[in-house]
Amino acid sequence: MSPSSESSSALVLRGGLVAGPERTVPADVLVIGAHVVAVAADLSGVRIPGVVVTEHDVRGRLVLPALVDQHSHPTGGGGGGGPHTQNLPILFEQYTSAGIGTVVGCLGHDTVVRTHEALLTRVRALRMQGLNGYLFTGEIGHPPGTLTGDIRRDLALFDEVRGVKAAVGEVGALRTVDQVQHLAGAVARGSRTGGKPPVLHLHLGADPRSVALVAAAVADGTVPASMVTVTHVNWNAEVLAGAAELAQAGVNVDVTACIAPAYFPGAVPPHRAVAQLLDQVPGAQQVTVTSDAGGSHPHGATLVPHRPVLLLDVLRRCLADRVAPAHLLAGVFAGHAARRLGLAGAGTLVPGARADIVVIDEHGQGPISMFLGGRLVVDGGTPTVTDPVGGAGHTGAEETVR
Ligand SMILES: [Zn+2]
Repeated sequence: MSPSSESSSALVLRGGLVAGPERTVPADVLVIGAHVVAVAADLSGVRIPGVVVTEHDVRGRLVLPALVDQHSHPTGGGGGGGPHTQNLPILFEQYTSAGIGTVVGCLGHDTVVRTHEALLTRVRALRMQGLNGYLFTGEIGHPPGTLTGDIRRDLALFDEVRGVKAAVGEVGALRTVDQVQHLAGAVARGSRTGGKPPVLHLHLGADPRSVALVAAAVADGTVPASMVTVTHVNWNAEVLAGAAELAQAGVNVDVTACIAPAYFPGAVPPHRAVAQLLDQVPGAQQVTVTSDAGGSHPHGATLVPHRPVLLLDVLRRCLADRVAPAHLLAGVFAGHAARRLGLAGAGTLVPGARADIVVIDEHGQGPISMFLGGRLVVDGGTPTVTDPVGGAGHTGAEETVR
């Protein structure tokens, strides 16, 4: 049993502004073991027989559920430009210092060297350290590679597999409505057997016709909008506009933190894409943001890696620009994805939820602290738990220097 799952210790986060499911309120949060037990106005006098209660002062700080990143490449992505473009794996503390408590890994362009077996193994390594790690089977190419040779078997047999990644608008990807519908059918059937909600996670190419293909597949009702996510919607204004329409039909539209105009000309800055979608999609339940960490972009002769902290940077901008109240942003950065993926207890701060908690300045400035399953893993910007494969001297601290 890990320290975080023992119930002989308790923690009260005192005096923060807590982003709950419906509003952001001044409140204390009581954590026992790995779970949130109470969120209430004043928990200063809490005594629990046989349990040591420690207090953590978060006065004036925002208390959010840890981020749920449903598109990341923990094995390292890339590889689409030759052997020298294979990116390095992502370390535990690179996720936690970005405030990420739940990660769904997927494969990128290379699926020859980066296999599903390698992805599952890396996800399990992150799980052993306390992160909520999951993966999507499938891949950009069609027909997709899998763990077991069959989408349905992957979904039915592995709890870690929470859906299928596929793509439209890329070389070798899904091309026709019929193909999308056929794949969605396999996802629905495998997920039913596995006892999980069906999730078809579609990488969009930058060509607006890729959105049109998804819209056509959803339009006749064969593919329920509620099972579809389209990611990379901020490639450009046209794709984003098409995605906003899909969101109104019930599709999950996912903004990518690493798609930025500085290196992808025409891209919509992710915080602006979030603002636009929150404006256009009533209730915003369909809007999420992910890091896409593990990829990279060329800069001269080198590659600039896309790190998980890019996701936190988007949240910081959204808080600084007051794009939406904190509880709505908590949905966009955590709760909505957790709900779609069927991850009960993740992405929300209610009694019974996992104590995966980010403490951040309400305007998004300065260092964060993070609790993962009730355990302090980032303290004032410094990771207190580091990945055993990170090598001596690696602290991950550079991730949070601003
Ligand atoms: Zn990706």
